[in-house]
Amino acid sequence: MSYEKITEADVVAIRHSRDRSADLAERHGVTQTQINRIRAGQTWKHVDPPRAVVDWQTNPWPTARERFEANYKRGSDGECWEWMAGKNRHGYGQFRTEKKQNKTMAHRYSYELHIGPIPEGMKVCHSCDNPSCVNPDHLWIGTQADNVRDMVAKGRAVWNAKVEVAQ
Ligand SMILES: [Zn+2]
Repeated sequence: MSYEKITEADVVAIRHSRDRSADLAERHGVTQTQINRIRAGQTWKHVDPPRAVVDWQTNPWPTARERFEANYKRGSDGECWEWMAGKNRHGYGQFRTEKKQNKTMAHRYSYELHIGPIPEGMKVCHSCDNPSCVNPDHLWIGTQADNVRDMVAKGRAVWNAKVEVAQ
């Protein structure tokens, strides 16, 4: 089993186990360093979630999670996860989580799926500056002011239009 193929269940088992890292490494087919990273909570986001294979014939309205998983291209470790479905005019991925509901921003959905609820009124910002990226490792919670400060620091202050829509 390669590190990339480790499942969420494996991660939970590793986190709850008191066994030596060396034993866990052997049991799960990964290195001791990787076990330590998982134990330190650093790598859970790299774990492949069960990737939905949507069969539109038998499942014409898959769940939001299934459609989310089917609509981005996962890069290798550390790379952006490109949203492949609909985007708004500013390049942010979006999709409907429910029939006839307003569209949800894909990066915000990803944040809530992988990390947790977004506090009221907060923005989900991209450290990679790629609006179509849904990699939770590249997302951070900030206020509108944080987002603007980040943009100024990175020399993106001219892109004011983008600030307005980064939710
Ligand atoms: Zn990214």
